[in-house]
Amino acid sequence: MSDSQFTPRVFSGMQPSGGLTLGNYLGALKRYVEMQDEGTYQTIYCMVDLHAITVWQDPAELAAKTRELAAAYIAAGVDPEKSILINQSQVPEHAQLGWVFNCVARMGWMQRMTQFKDKAGKNAQNASLGLFGYPALMAADILIYHATHVPVGDDQKQHLELTRDIAAKFNHDYGVDFFPLTEPVIKGAATRVMSLRDGSKKMSKSDPSDASRINMTDDADTIAKKIRKAKTDPDALPSEYKGLDDRPEARNLVNIYAALADMSVEQVLADHGGAQFGAFKPALAELAVEKLSPIASEMTRLMDDVPEIDRLLARGAEQAREITQPILKKTYEIVGMVGS
Ligand code: ATP
Ligand code: MG
Repeated sequence: MSDSQFTPRVFSGMQPSGGLTLGNYLGALKRYVEMQDEGTYQTIYCMVDLHAITVWQDPAELAAKTRELAAAYIAAGVDPEKSILINQSQVPEHAQLGWVFNCVARMGWMQRMTQFKDKAGKNAQNASLGLFGYPALMAADILIYHATHVPVGDDQKQHLELTRDIAAKFNHDYGVDFFPLTEPVIKGAATRVMSLRDGSKKMSKSDPSDASRINMTDDADTIAKKIRKAKTDPDALPSEYKGLDDRPEARNLVNIYAALADMSVEQVLADHGGAQFGAFKPALAELAVEKLSPIASEMTRLMDDVPEIDRLLARGAEQAREITQPILKKTYEIVGMVGS
């Protein structure tokens, strides 16, 4: 099947399940802005509040976090004049297509999803049905726009493969060529930023340990302190990338540096090879503060005008529905729903 029939369109989203981390910024948000500014794609960026409630959220906090996430997108460079900015629940076609995809996805496919296993942990019987079904709704988030490209961190690769499987099965089962096979865009030096406390675990906004992550809103002292305390090994930095094999914590800090500085990892090691962490960590902290603090202050400024954020989201939802309503209608027609 050829995907050239589809408009080049980018969709991606984040959960308002906590404050944004450096991992979210480097793995996803920075890429959102680049793809927006490239001019090749129509870009749609979403706060996925329906995904956030797969784990219980305090209602007042969920609303605040959703607005804060919108402010973070804009502060980082997502421009509501260039991109469509939406909150998932304000565009009901996501959930409507999500139901259809619940009926396309197979139990066996869902049971292989590692994010569910990680998040549900030992207590899988007590996890919500929504947490299990999450990737089918995520497929709907993407495919309700016929999106062709999705910038994400490495942890979402499996969900993007599932999205393609769902699109292919729908097309096959109904004998149509309706949904595109969407490409993940997983790019840059920091597609998987690791926890500062454990180099084998991904940095996450929902990790119970605040010391494990750098939040976009941390102040300069907090950032410096967290980096100083980040787990490392006693050796100096190597001058070549293969010297970081079996040194996950050291590799993580070097990757973060490269991504923040828009440099290759090789360049960073050429500059810092031979340095001890006592010297490299303060340099990294300074760079992180330089890049993050302007975004944090712009977020604070935007959060002073909540009605303006709400107005932008209402407008974004209207723009989005011009795309999603016809795609849902056509889907229902294909499936055979009367009145579509
Ligand atoms: P949660 O713990 O609630 O799942 P999260 O930090 O994983 O939060 P999400 O909202 O699930 O954040 O993901 C938003 C985007 O950020 C996704 O594209 C995801 O791939 C990316 N992302 C999340 N964590 C990292 C990370 N550590 N490194 C790089 N990208 C990441
Ligand atoms: Mg996540």
